[in-house]
Amino acid sequence: MTAELREIRINPIVPSESVLIATARGSRPQKAEELAPRDSRVHVDRCPFCTGNEEKTPPTILAVPDEQAWAIRIVENLYPVLGDDRTQQDLNLGLQQTIDGYGRHEVIIDNPNHGIAHHEMDVNHLAMLFGTYRQRMAELYESDPRLRYVLVFKNFGPAAGASIKHTHSQLIAMPIIPENVYNEVEHSRNYYRKYHQCIFCSLIDEALTFEATIYNRESGEVRHKVDVGQYVIERSERFIAIKPFASRYEWEVHILPTQHQSNFMKATAEDLADFAKLLKRTMQRLDKVLSGAQYNYYFHTVPRCDEFKDCDASYHWHMEICPRTTIPSGFELGSGLFISTISPEDAAQKLRDAI
Ligand SMILES: [Zn+2]
Ligand SMILES: [Zn+2]
Ligand SMILES: [Zn+2]
Repeated sequence: MTAELREIRINPIVPSESVLIATARGSRPQKAEELAPRDSRVHVDRCPFCTGNEEKTPPTILAVPDEQAWAIRIVENLYPVLGDDRTQQDLNLGLQQTIDGYGRHEVIIDNPNHGIAHHEMDVNHLAMLFGTYRQRMAELYESDPRLRYVLVFKNFGPAAGASIKHTHSQLIAMPIIPENVYNEVEHSRNYYRKYHQCIFCSLIDEALTFEATIYNRESGEVRHKVDVGQYVIERSERFIAIKPFASRYEWEVHILPTQHQSNFMKATAEDLADFAKLLKRTMQRLDKVLSGAQYNYYFHTVPRCDEFKDCDASYHWHMEICPRTTIPSGFELGSGLFISTISPEDAAQKLRDAI
C-alpha cells in the first residue's frame, strides 16, 4: 500500500479534467453505491431480448450470424434519444441554441443468454461482438454524411444505469462530436504539434518504462516513488490495459492498442480477437475485485469531420471502462473534480493480483 495520499492529479490528455486522490482513512466524502444484485438468469420468458421474443422488439437491423440463430442482434431503441424524424426546427434564442436532435439510437443485444457477463462470454463471441460494433459504426457513417460521431457504449448492472437487465450495448450516432471526445482529440493534436508524438503512445511507453519520484515542494523530501509500470493491468500481443494515473473512477481502466491506431474501424479481425482476449481477462479482474462489477464502457475513436481529418497521427482509439462504486456528490458535480478514495496505484495492484 502506498502512503496516505492527498493530491490533485491533472489528466495528461485533457488537463481541464482532474481528480482529487484522498486516501486518508475516515475521509470518505462519497457514499458507496448500493449495488443491486446482478440478474444472472440464462433465459427469462418475458424478456424482450431473450430468444423466442424477437417480435417484442422493433425490427432487427442486423443479426449475426443470421436472424434464425442469432448470437448478436441489433434493433432500434424503443425510446431513442435521437431520431431521424425531425421534431422541431433548430431553435436559436440568443445564448440558448439548440441543434436538431438528428441521429440514430440502436440497441445491440450482446448475447442470447440473458444475464451473462462479459467475463463469462466466450472469447470468440466477444470478438464477434466488437466486430459487430465496428461493422455497424461503418454502416452508419456510410449512411449519412451529417453524422459526426458514433458512440458505442455499454451500461452493465443497475448501478451503471442499465434499465433493461438482459445484457446489451448501445450505439448513438449523432450530428455533433461529444465534448469528451472533442477535448481529447483537440488536446492530443496540440501535444503532437509540440512534441511530434502521440500522447497516448507516450503514455503507453511511460507505463512500460519509467519510474517517477514525487518530491515535497518545500522540503525537497521524497514523498513517494511511483513505479509507473505499476499502472499496467494486463497485456496481450496487441493491447494494453492501463489504470490511468488520474482516474476519475476508482476502478477505471483504459484499453489501448499498443501499436498506434487512431480509428477503431481500422482494427482488423486479428486485432479484435486479441482485444477480446484482453478485455475478458480485464473484466475477470474487475469482477473479482469488486465482487461483481457494474460498469459503463465506451469507445473513443477519431471522429469524422474536416476539422479533425489531420488527427490520424495524434489520436489513438481506446476503450474506457468505468466501474460504478460510488455516487458522484455535489462536490463533483459542482467542481468537476472527481474524488478517489483509493490511490490508482493500489487499485492497479489489486487488479493485477486478482487472478
Ligand atoms: Zn433476456
Ligand atoms: Zn498513439
Ligand atoms: Zn477517451
